[in-house]
Amino acid sequence: MSHSPLEYCGISNANEILIITWITYIEMYALTYERRATEKKGQAMETREEKRRIVLVPFPAQGHITPMIQLGQALNLKGFSIAVAQGESNKVSSSQHFPGFQFVTIPESVPVSQHETLGLVEFLMKLNKTSESSFKNCISHLLLQQGNDDIACIIYDELMYFSEAAAKEFKIPSVVFSTGSATNHACGYVLSKLNVENFLLDIEDPEMQEKVVDGLDPLRYKDLPVSGMGPLDRFLEICREVFNKRTASSVIINTTSCLESSSLSRLEQELKIPVYPLGPLHIKSSVDSSLLEEDRSCIEWLNKQKSKSVIYISLGSIAHIETKEVLEMAWGLYDSNQPFLWVIRPGSVPGSEPLPEELSKMVSERGYIVKWAPQSEVLAHPSVGGFWSHCGWNSTLESIVEGVPMICRPLNGEQKLNAIYIERVWRIGIQFKGEVKRGGVERAVKKLMMDDEGAYMRKRSLSLKEKVKASVRSGGSSYNALEELVEYLKTK
Ligand code: UDP
Repeated sequence: MSHSPLEYCGISNANEILIITWITYIEMYALTYERRATEKKGQAMETREEKRRIVLVPFPAQGHITPMIQLGQALNLKGFSIAVAQGESNKVSSSQHFPGFQFVTIPESVPVSQHETLGLVEFLMKLNKTSESSFKNCISHLLLQQGNDDIACIIYDELMYFSEAAAKEFKIPSVVFSTGSATNHACGYVLSKLNVENFLLDIEDPEMQEKVVDGLDPLRYKDLPVSGMGPLDRFLEICREVFNKRTASSVIINTTSCLESSSLSRLEQELKIPVYPLGPLHIKSSVDSSLLEEDRSCIEWLNKQKSKSVIYISLGSIAHIETKEVLEMAWGLYDSNQPFLWVIRPGSVPGSEPLPEELSKMVSERGYIVKWAPQSEVLAHPSVGGFWSHCGWNSTLESIVEGVPMICRPLNGEQKLNAIYIERVWRIGIQFKGEVKRGGVERAVKKLMMDDEGAYMRKRSLSLKEKVKASVRSGGSSYNALEELVEYLKTK
């Protein structure tokens, strides 16, 4: 009896042949699938270094958005693509040409307008509570677009701490970005560790007020940045939220070690995670993340003024000023005989629009007013010799980088810290204390622009400028910190 070749293999009927065919087919399919998957992974690995994504989560205010976008540009130049997750208001528009950037919306439950009505602390509490799940959705959409291991890291503004929940859920590394000074960050840490009841009592005690904050000389307890933040117990609660629940692997700070070495050392000691002081980020940035339209006519006006003769006045993107103070300022500036360029944002002088007639008259002779200026360019202009500032951290850095000495008129706690550093640590400016009266304004402006004391501050400003600029050049401390951060992100 003869046997078919199949029977030699122990296969005796058509059903078995069918089963074998299926098994072979399944095996072949599995092999092909595996090969394709390996190929795909290989391709992903090849492009990974170039194109992995970083998700940025800025806090929706100009002073926070600007450095976050600048950080995004720096990382994009290092080969990462950037996704900016932002709310529906106070957002940079994608029409503001950002190559390599994608913008995604976190459906917002708390409109930014509530920042003013609720105050910063209550706004933050609400924003963080309500954004956790919508941000998780946002991340899951991003992952669906490009694959599960596409996001190398979530870098979030320290105030947007809801981001941590999504990072944890999707097992994505997270890094905190503190857009203020290292000193402010260190003070936040100190406040987060205080025993609340004792501190609320102690802060009234004059002896305690004069005590130096450990490791942060010359700061005293009375200088801790709590003023203008609403009820102290609620503010301390936010500090604890920001610091104590953190699971981020490291902290980025927009500063440089030649400005704040002792605060950075204190932070490194306490936080026990890497700290990257890689600023000032704006030095190398070319992106425009302005939320308001810049009035460039002021540059033409500056072109007509004498070298170092103009005092530039700006109180940043949030501060308000009373009409009475505006008029006293205007008289003081007029009496100082110095030309002045003044930013008066729409809505920043409540109840005074249009601005008083009296002001227009004084300005037409000696000054120029704009609603919003290209500030970095203004500070870099050779005609600008001084900056009357509220001492927001970005304005402080921008002034330092251009070597422009300052008159400090801080309004809240963080700005007061910066003013202390400007006046007492770097000695590149003077503080304007007390009520704004025309005589005081005139004296302060003359001191900065004409006196020997002002000349000394200008000299120091120019020397600090060189040190800060050197830190972002190849081999400088900020340059190295950025390289280290990039190395870390590439391993994720
Ligand atoms: N700014 C500007 N034009 C102006 C006034 C301010 O571009 O007319 C920018 C300024 O350059 C800085 C930011 O707005 O980058 C303000 O940030 P800062 O931290 O100084 O203060 P904040 O607005 O957060 O109080």
